[in-house]
Amino acid sequence: MAGNNLDLNQIQEKWQKYWEKEEIYKFNPNSKKPTYSIDTPPPTVSGEMHVGHAFSYAQQDFIARYKRMSANVFYPFGTDDNGLPTERLVERLNNVRSKEMSRKKFIDLCLKTLKKVTPGFVQDWKSLGVSADYNIFYSTIDRNSQRISQKSFIDLYNAKRIYKKGFPTIWCPECQTAIAQAELEDKEFLSQFLTIKFSCGGESLPIATTRPELIPACVAIFVNPNDKRYVNLSGKKARVPLFDFEVPIIADESADSEKGTGAMMVCSYGDKFDVDAINRYKLEPKIILNFDGTLKIGDYKGIKIKEVRKKIIEELKKENLITDSKSISHVVNVHDKCGTEIEFLPTDQWFIKILDKKKELLVQGKKINWHPKYMHKRYENWIKGLEWDWSISRDRHFGIPIPVWECINCKKIILPGIKELPIDPLEVKKKCPICKKLAAPEIQVLDTWATSSLTPQITSLLIKDKIKIPYSLRPQGHDIIRTWAFYTIVKSLLHENKIPWKNIMISGFVTLGGHKMSKSKGISVNPKEVIEKYSSDALRYWAAGSKLGNDLDYQEKELIAGKKTITKLFNASRFVFMNLKNYKPKKTVLMETDKLFLSELSKLVKSCTDAFDKYEYSKAKFEADNFFWKMFCDNYLEIVKKRVYNGNKKEKESAFYTLYFSLLTILKLIAPVMPFITEEIYQTYYRKNEKEKSIHLCEWPKEFEIKSKENIFDLMIRTISKVRQEKTKAQKPMNFECILTISKGEFEDLKDVMEDLKNVTNAVEIKKGDFKVEIV
Ligand SMILES: [Zn+2]
Ligand SMILES: [Zn+2]
Repeated sequence: MAGNNLDLNQIQEKWQKYWEKEEIYKFNPNSKKPTYSIDTPPPTVSGEMHVGHAFSYAQQDFIARYKRMSANVFYPFGTDDNGLPTERLVERLNNVRSKEMSRKKFIDLCLKTLKKVTPGFVQDWKSLGVSADYNIFYSTIDRNSQRISQKSFIDLYNAKRIYKKGFPTIWCPECQTAIAQAELEDKEFLSQFLTIKFSCGGESLPIATTRPELIPACVAIFVNPNDKRYVNLSGKKARVPLFDFEVPIIADESADSEKGTGAMMVCSYGDKFDVDAINRYKLEPKIILNFDGTLKIGDYKGIKIKEVRKKIIEELKKENLITDSKSISHVVNVHDKCGTEIEFLPTDQWFIKILDKKKELLVQGKKINWHPKYMHKRYENWIKGLEWDWSISRDRHFGIPIPVWECINCKKIILPGIKELPIDPLEVKKKCPICKKLAAPEIQVLDTWATSSLTPQITSLLIKDKIKIPYSLRPQGHDIIRTWAFYTIVKSLLHENKIPWKNIMISGFVTLGGHKMSKSKGISVNPKEVIEKYSSDALRYWAAGSKLGNDLDYQEKELIAGKKTITKLFNASRFVFMNLKNYKPKKTVLMETDKLFLSELSKLVKSCTDAFDKYEYSKAKFEADNFFWKMFCDNYLEIVKKRVYNGNKKEKESAFYTLYFSLLTILKLIAPVMPFITEEIYQTYYRKNEKEKSIHLCEWPKEFEIKSKENIFDLMIRTISKVRQEKTKAQKPMNFECILTISKGEFEDLKDVMEDLKNVTNAVEIKKGDFKVEIV
């Protein structure tokens, strides 16, 4: 098979099937090797792998494969398929609206749909070469996960860590559910900053706002006690325009005299500030909004809030109540899943108390090794900025039910026994032990983070607790430090009083032409197409091109470079074994050049090992790749060629040994990044002599002691390169014979490798003197 006709897709398929059949990545609980456990991120089932997945999963797989060559790796695989994204997928695929179906019917449809789409979805990960043990599989909605998640709820409830509270909660009117602070995204909007005429005792009291639609929800006016303009107004009443009712004017330090007119309206609820203000003064909220984002009052009943804003502005204009208007661009909180501006609505929600644990959570963060280090700051900043407890209930159909009943009469909360889990309160009737009357089942479900924050507990249970917390590694993206990483640390602290993992590696994003990928904007790359065109190994080669944590631009030229390396590996191996034929490795007296080369190889092993140990796979890849092209192909192969063809027995054997051993070492160093081509070469040429049934089960190469002089190999390479330059200058082919003159000192240094130097430079003679290449 010629190198350029290599059928990489066929090679990929062949080895992926072989790995699966031979259970190459199966976790062995009885292994004597040290265990390295990975808390694999469960991708959200959404149809297809995207290139961001390919990028970050390749990076974590580099580490998994590296570790597997010296440890017993626990690398389970799961999918995250409860919560909003899955609900949306199921709605889309089946053309239904969850809100129009019963919970049971919708959940049945979800499970049925997942059964259909999950295997195809997971295949994308297998094709990428992700070396997980796919038999240790979980879904965040399966019975095991439900049980653990509900048990976590019950344990925390009993520990008085969970409470239910009717409270203005962050609400998405589009998804119609409460959401957590961590699900907010900043989005820049253009708004009108309007100054509106309120009045007080017949005097005008102008107030500036970007949300005139909240005028009917106004419950107070705040002024700063140090603001001389308003010093007399405190304690009086202000009249609200258009809606014609009165609200108290309150002097409060939180009012910013510099902003707008210095007087501000407090509404129920414009933002976090309003929530806080209304609570502090125990003001009676005026709730004007329905859960679907329409208004519930007067002429505006049933109209979406954005429309109401337009209408109210029109009304205000008509009544001449706007004194000033300017366009401003300001940042608004939107729901990260749908981009809708969020509202605050009072609802009964369940919370996990975390605000009192900030200090401890900061301490936990310090116990974890963050790779790269600077990502730790993001975790700390998030905790320092936390203002809310963790809201864990969601008003959706699909998801893990909150395992609670509440007595309508005496409000007693009734929990199921642990043995009853998993349980759906809608399906089981419970009586109040005091009133003996039927209790009402909780209809809300748990937010998906409440479950995925338990992945270490979930996966550990899959193998009967053989893996203990803390795990060795959590790999994940930087966008979910404040959610997945944070919540997992919270749960491990509350349940185990431990950190969940010793290391966390954080991947960056993929960009295209410097822009964030976005399917809707047409800025995206389909990894399946990339794999088809360039192969998985080439895609992984590209993914190894950026330092951990850095964003990486998708560049076709990197895929091309990856494919070239694959071809070069294949061709170089073919060349080596064309000459080695049925060589069986055996101890040999080594020639000086071979010793020198092997000593360079040992340095490479050391530096790749150090890099991988620091999660710097990109450095390891760069150095192994560079060594292979420059040291192995361009120089060493050229140096030993003649010895391999025409040498005596001793010369040949030393070269054979060195070729066999060095190529195998290079393949092992590259195997974590390019698992398919290295397996292909290993199986074709090495398997018959080596005991492991896959290169990925081989021992990671160790540094080796070889007695040789420092810097001589380097001098040899430099001399060869100078001769090549001279021949190029003289426009002669490289195989032209010459007489080479080198300095006396260099002649002395190179005397042990003189024969090989003659061979590679085609020198008929090497003399002492000023450097010179005479073509003969
Ligand atoms: Zn939403
Ligand atoms: Zn009761």
